[in-house]
Amino acid sequence: MSEISESTVPDLVLRGGRVIDPESGRDEIADVAIANGSVVALGTGLAPAALELDAAGHVVTAGFIDLHSHVNGIAGLRLQALDGVTTALELEAGVTPVAAAYERASRDGRPVNFGFAASWALARMEAVAGIRLDGRLEVFLANIATSAWQQQATAAQVATVLSRLSADLADGALGIGILVGYAPGCDPGEYLQVAALAAAAGVPTFTHARDMIEMVPGARIDGAEEIVRAADETGARMHYCHLNSTSQRHVDRVLDLVGRAQQAGSLVTTEAYPYGSGMTGIGAAFLAPERLAERGMTPRSLTYVPTGEQVASADRLRELRATDPGGLVIIRLLDEDDPDDRRLLLSSLTFPGAMVASDAMPLTWSGPAPDPMSWPLRADAVTHPRTAGTFSRALRTLARRDGPLGLTETLRRCSLLPAQLLQGHVPAMRRKGRLQPGCDADIVVFDPDTVTDQATYLASTRPSSGIRHVLVNGTPVVREGELVLDALPGKPVRASAS
Ligand SMILES: [Zn+2]
Repeated sequence: MSEISESTVPDLVLRGGRVIDPESGRDEIADVAIANGSVVALGTGLAPAALELDAAGHVVTAGFIDLHSHVNGIAGLRLQALDGVTTALELEAGVTPVAAAYERASRDGRPVNFGFAASWALARMEAVAGIRLDGRLEVFLANIATSAWQQQATAAQVATVLSRLSADLADGALGIGILVGYAPGCDPGEYLQVAALAAAAGVPTFTHARDMIEMVPGARIDGAEEIVRAADETGARMHYCHLNSTSQRHVDRVLDLVGRAQQAGSLVTTEAYPYGSGMTGIGAAFLAPERLAERGMTPRSLTYVPTGEQVASADRLRELRATDPGGLVIIRLLDEDDPDDRRLLLSSLTFPGAMVASDAMPLTWSGPAPDPMSWPLRADAVTHPRTAGTFSRALRTLARRDGPLGLTETLRRCSLLPAQLLQGHVPAMRRKGRLQPGCDADIVVFDPDTVTDQATYLASTRPSSGIRHVLVNGTPVVREGELVLDALPGKPVRASAS
């Protein structure tokens, strides 16, 4: 039992929950006292506070840190908060210039903490294709099909890309997002230069891998080999994003490669999301009609989200790619109903040290976008179910009594490991991902027996259930299972100037 110091009167006490902290190994029934946005005490019988929230029969642990969220609006981030997320970071695509992204999010307010990596793809769009940037991912989606930015760059253009990324790092970017899989014409040497820049700056990279060599035998380099090679040759910390979706049916081969690289001392980490289908802009290079066979797909493997239509033919796919290149599509990659595919998905999630990350996608509205604060969501809002359900689904499938990971290990992958990946150069991360005195009061309280995702491919914005309270910097964002409608306590997470 610990005491609150005389001078600290807590603002809030979470009463009588099962406190789990994977770092310290704590797993016991305790109260949690919070003051000024931080955890100030853990123990039994703590004195009453102004606000008391019951946590009996529930798990109380650090809120989930999502390394891979493309959501940059209040409505989508609320869905993530209802899934237990307290920090949502845009690291895989990144945004450039990051200063504009931080400024916009700070001005509008966010229900959860937020942060951004520098975007290699956007820096390249600017340097190679002359596209104007504004610090929003929408610029990437709008130009996703423009072949000009996907080609081999000149040495001078690469130098311009690197200096743009350096400027973003000086502005507090959390790392460098490298969507190399969207620019098949990029020279592997350029990828190594970006990794070397990250290594010199002491920041990680986050890669959407190129095609697997089995899919495109004539590719310049295998997508998985490229990532581990960069870690080995440059010493950079290389994070392998959504290993499940880019590896597809080659998960075993890729995990074996990553495991060997890790054993050899390379700084390679992985993440996965618990869904068989992916989502991206329909204009992506790898979704060209003539290339679908590489992934064992046909146009009918794609569902165009704005209308919900299964794409009927190559001609219809060409038409959609021309008229709405950034329009989101659901891509059936692994079949969740097929036992072999389910095993591959599970392997990517249970691989030692693999983190849970959602790849949450922006909401798409078939009508005009509503006021950002309006809630509940209008019925025409659609996204990928992973936006609303990744973490609850991970708890349901990995952590339940007979789940393959168990509760503490699943929580470690949802909060502590993401914090540890970033904490070397992001001081705020040393106070997140843990539930200990002195840490930020980013906390999720959930029922371990009933927590579950509710979003499906057909009802993609249905919030998770079983998440009872979510605190961000000590402020309830979800209380008794309901969203707190005026709560926007999210703070920017930035790297320290090196
Ligand atoms: Zn991706």
